[in-house]
Amino acid sequence: MRKLILRIWPTILVMSFALVGCGAHGPAEIHYGQDQCEYCKMTIADKSFGSELVTVKGKVYKFDSIECLAAYQSANSLSSGQIRSCG
Ligand SMILES: [Zn+2]
Repeated sequence: MRKLILRIWPTILVMSFALVGCGAHGPAEIHYGQDQCEYCKMTIADKSFGSELVTVKGKVYKFDSIECLAAYQSANSLSSGQIRSCG
């Protein structure tokens, strides 16, 4: 798991910057205790670890952790060109 995190760290960093500056077309509100993680299907409960991925088409995927976000991105072969970059 640690090797996976180290290998995908640059992607995580790029996605984090992209999400910060998305403005009106960016991340949607996470409804903690109600929304489900797109990857592991667990309920997103902890505000410390909730994360989102926004595609260039505006589709928002919500995750209960950055690890699930990275695993989803890797499993679905989403390139940085398919992820919304704002700024
Ligand atoms: Zn998850």
